[in-house]
Amino acid sequence: MDASLKRLALAEPFRIAHGSSADRVVLRVERDGCVAEAPFVPYYGDDPEETLARLESGLPFEDLPRTARLALDLLDHELAARRAGEPLTVGIARRFSLSPGRVPPGCRSLGIPSDLEEFSRRVADLSRQFRVLKLKLGSGDLGLDLATVSVARRAAPGAELIVDVNGGWDPSEAPMMIWKLMEDRPAIIEQPIHHRHGPEVWRDLRAELPENAAPVYADESVQSAADVEEFSRLVDGVNVKLLKAGSLDAAVAMIEAARANGLGVLLGCMIESSLGTTAAAHLAPWADRIDLDGHFFLAEDDYDGITYDETGSLVMPDGPGIGALRR
Ligand SMILES: [Mg+2]
Repeated sequence: MDASLKRLALAEPFRIAHGSSADRVVLRVERDGCVAEAPFVPYYGDDPEETLARLESGLPFEDLPRTARLALDLLDHELAARRAGEPLTVGIARRFSLSPGRVPPGCRSLGIPSDLEEFSRRVADLSRQFRVLKLKLGSGDLGLDLATVSVARRAAPGAELIVDVNGGWDPSEAPMMIWKLMEDRPAIIEQPIHHRHGPEVWRDLRAELPENAAPVYADESVQSAADVEEFSRLVDGVNVKLLKAGSLDAAVAMIEAARANGLGVLLGCMIESSLGTTAAAHLAPWADRIDLDGHFFLAEDDYDGITYDETGSLVMPDGPGIGALRR
């Protein structure tokens, strides 16, 4: 097996509550002509060089950093699915006895804006193709956060707006912010408070919200099926990502834990190439919403994979396995 790091430059800096990035690094693993990818994200603090060194040192799978575990797991699935001549989705459905549901509409995300006029134009533009838009809040300026949502609401009156705070609000201000956002009708409020806050803080937050507040989803706070169980009475839904789960089957386990507890499922990704977002997209038939646009932030995507048609619907690539092809 060959392993390498690939630095992916972003088309423009992407700002969220965790900070701003100009590029991202992904780990690529390759065997018998099959390739899989897993991303590094700043908030885990995993070092790419060290991860690669540990992977190459032959440590047991369980002792590897999550990025390495995910890349190896996806490579195994890619090899098996290519041999079987079937897309990843087919194997998932069979292993878990799941029948595929309807794939939710595509969504595009916008980072914390630096210029609200330009942001407004971009929202209007994207909303012509996409019915669902995700707005990153948690700028550190509550006024800017509120203005971001109201500007987007005016620019895209009919769009579903998912607001993702990435833990950027203090628990003392989050209830007031959620109340204030109600007039702009967000569809979901994701991770309003930081993941260092445990369930008891989320319970207090929940107690302060009106019955008709937008559904609150956890992202960074839920990293596994066990976390989903723990948060099941505190949130309305969860964001499931391959990297958090660490494997394809662990991500399915998160989805199943969410379903068993009546929670909504948002399927997300990181900033990664189309090889990574396309792998995640094979879980789309079991999500209520998808947020699979990480590759759009790249200056240069070296893979072709998922696309969206003129109505914003997800289009999977043809072909077995992940289905993404090197450009
Ligand atoms: Mg999120």
